Amino acid sequence: MSQKKRIYLSPPHMSGEEERYVAEAFRTNWIAPLGPLVDTFEEKLAAYAGTAGAAAVSSGTAAIHLALKLLGAGKGDTVFCSSFTFVASANPILYEQAEPVFIDSERDTWNMSPQALERALDEAERARHLPKAVIVVNLYGQSAKMDEIIEICDRFAVPVIEDAAESLGSVYKGRKSGTFGRFGIYSFNGNKIITTSGGGMLVSDDEDALKRARFLATQAREPAIHYQHQKTGYNYRLSNVLAGIGIAQLEVLDDRVNARRAIFKRYQEALSEMDGVDFMPEFGMSNRWLTTLTFDEKKIKTSPAEIIEQLAGENIEARPLWKPLHRQPLFNGAAFYPHDESGSVADDLFHRGLCLPSGSSLTREEQDRVIQVLADRIKYK
Ligand SMILES: *Cc1c(COP(=O)(O)O)cnc(C)c1O
Repeated sequence: MSQKKRIYLSPPHMSGEEERYVAEAFRTNWIAPLGPLVDTFEEKLAAYAGTAGAAAVSSGTAAIHLALKLLGAGKGDTVFCSSFTFVASANPILYEQAEPVFIDSERDTWNMSPQALERALDEAERARHLPKAVIVVNLYGQSAKMDEIIEICDRFAVPVIEDAAESLGSVYKGRKSGTFGRFGIYSFNGNKIITTSGGGMLVSDDEDALKRARFLATQAREPAIHYQHQKTGYNYRLSNVLAGIGIAQLEVLDDRVNARRAIFKRYQEALSEMDGVDFMPEFGMSNRWLTTLTFDEKKIKTSPAEIIEQLAGENIEARPLWKPLHRQPLFNGAAFYPHDESGSVADDLFHRGLCLPSGSSLTREEQDRVIQVLADRIKYK
């Protein structure tokens, strides 16, 4: 029996124009980290997001790291971070030897709970040890309640870094996701809504800060012909070749958002009649990077793990939701602020949820294969 064609969770989706820009890099011999395509990519992305500027870097993780450096986080400092996220949101806290403090999710958005954040900041203020920054993640494309979170952080004068790695193209309260904090970051990793194979962007309205970010990202080279250095720098800039891919991808970003939203809608129409199946809620407009859902195990008489296994048997890639960072051995001993006394929302979501194949190139037939497995599994057990 021949193996059915593999369906991936979120594969790259090229427009066809990428090679034209990459060829331009070759034609002009700008095969370098920096160059005119990097400048163009920065300008276009800043215009799309609606920020004063943008700095293109080698990954989303590098962008978070630079933001933390600019805010001066270091040894002896704390940095608050969403717990329900990918490890890359918090790794840069460790790079700077600062101490992460994890904040739970709320049910409305699955993202940082404003009430848990407020409680954590209240305590920190009383201990006279406010965090250097709060890293707020917009998971699976859904914005956190950024208006409430910014209002709370402003009250304590703590800057916000918005990890919008997964939410490029989403809108919240009339503004593009990633533009609410002092800094926003995007990722162009291969699995994100648009990709440069690997890459990231730091956005801000503070152009001086972006200038310093570019400086730190190019080995902190002082303006002197003989290579003068006073600070530790990084090699974090985006390659001019990859920026070419990014420019072409940005041109189709809105199409990609529409495609992912249509995929979500189709899953929802096919499955939401089933008792015990719930989809991630939406506040504002989510790019629906991944279609995610939770199950009531008592009603569906199976588990997310079993469903993932069943899908794997059909050569379909599905994944559990992110394992909360306060549960990761890497962060043993880190403080965690749950949403309320009834326990951790992030843990509950993690145990009950999964992500379905959601790539913008997913065909109707492929989506039917996914839906069929779920329908069989949930109906007949
Ligand atoms: C992908 C991702 C990152 C990291 O981006 P890279 O470009 O892979 O370094 C950070 N945060 C979240 C939430 C992500 O999903």
